[in-house]
Amino acid sequence: MKTIIEPFRTKVVEPIYFTSQGEREALLACAGYNLFKLNAKDCTIDFLTDSGTAALSSDQWSALMRADESYAGASSFHRFEKSVKSIFGFKEVLPVHQGRAAERLLFSELVKPGQKIPSNTHFDTTRANLEARGATAVDLPCRAWRDGDSAASFAGNIDLSELERLICEAEPGMIPFAMLTVTNNACGGQPVSMRNLRQTSQLLKRHHIPLFIDAARFAENAYLIQQREENYSSTSISSIVEEMFTYADGCLMSCKKDGIANIGGFIALNDSELVERVKVEMIVTEGFPTYGGLSGRDLETIAIGLYEATNEDYLRYREASARFLHDRLKRIGIPVISPPALHAVYVDAAAMLTHIPPLELPGQALACELYREAGIRSCEIGTAMFGKSDPETGITVCAPHELVRLALPRRVYSQSHYEYVIEAFSNINQRRSSIRGLKITKQAEKLRHFTAVYEPIEKTSPSINCDSEMEGFNKNRVLYEI
Ligand SMILES: *Cc1c(COP(=O)(O)O)cnc(C)c1O
Repeated sequence: MKTIIEPFRTKVVEPIYFTSQGEREALLACAGYNLFKLNAKDCTIDFLTDSGTAALSSDQWSALMRADESYAGASSFHRFEKSVKSIFGFKEVLPVHQGRAAERLLFSELVKPGQKIPSNTHFDTTRANLEARGATAVDLPCRAWRDGDSAASFAGNIDLSELERLICEAEPGMIPFAMLTVTNNACGGQPVSMRNLRQTSQLLKRHHIPLFIDAARFAENAYLIQQREENYSSTSISSIVEEMFTYADGCLMSCKKDGIANIGGFIALNDSELVERVKVEMIVTEGFPTYGGLSGRDLETIAIGLYEATNEDYLRYREASARFLHDRLKRIGIPVISPPALHAVYVDAAAMLTHIPPLELPGQALACELYREAGIRSCEIGTAMFGKSDPETGITVCAPHELVRLALPRRVYSQSHYEYVIEAFSNINQRRSSIRGLKITKQAEKLRHFTAVYEPIEKTSPSINCDSEMEGFNKNRVLYEI
């Protein structure tokens, strides 16, 4: 059979609700055009994130009953520990409440002010946690990503020559470690190849710099290695995962992604001395090292979810659903990032709404339009999220891409839901020239997209192209004066 179906059937259902266009207009205005401020029940299809939004399996629900909620040494911890160690191969594992807690704990031990931490591209919380330590997060996405090469199989790779240059130019001790994010979430969810992992590890070893993997979507990355990389088509996902992590000194994981859990994360390391130091800090803010801020139920869910995420039938279905949405949007003329990732489909809002310049937030404008049209919640990944305004000069540096991410929760939506989203895009596309940009009227200093307030603008202004010094903004850098 050629038809790829969901490798599961529904056992419990959750109703979704419908709103009228008038209601959605009012809700958008009340939310300050910030979709994070909407109530979830007002979103008919919620593609805001694939983080923590998965449907649990019957095995996971059964494990919730057997969970051991003891404060120390619970058997749920031992099952969690066994699962992480056997999948990732590290000697020690510390549970934490989510990925960003892993970042804060590890960085508080390893990062000093003024240091630089290179990555294929840091996720936004990773960047914020590094900056909070006074360090610089350096993004080195590969050329294929910077050039928008849609034929590239591994556009999530790190640029090895840029990495080497950074290392050679840095003062000794200024690069405490490097990171690779698999898949590369901030770069369209594109995968990192085994070859790139191996070569990064070799380069770093020559300079005695440790490598940590941000493993949020390790299974999806492994699947794409199996599908796309030479010599891996007959290797099992578990063997690919095993090899991937032999190249690293440790990993951080948000289990809200490929842990198929609603909360949780971990730090896995081989350096037991470092683990002991992290444990001291961990007890102050996260909890005792055998629960790390999680309940026994969460640890059970993760112990099983990590295995379910590496199941090949599941990964095949996941890829088929992302591809379905991607291909159909492309067919009706929506500019999408190709090839599609597994956890999301990314729409290029700058290419779709060419009349809205980056400073007027075409991504945020498109995300609002999707909600207005059909109650679909998505997430802007562009200037609203990554742009920066300098309060002294009044100049805003725009993000390199203006994307709208349609994140696909794991095991939640079916093909008819995707058809609904495709119809919404088709309707919006027909009236796209009438869509207006937005301006920010209120914003926080860090991670501004979560809390910003926006307002529609009446008229669009011309754009000016020039260079900026900002690291990580490698392409289409545009400066705007407010
Ligand atoms: C989600 C995510 C994080 C942060 O994890 P949280 O569980 O949301 O704190 C870090 N890195 C990547 C790549 C992520 O996708």
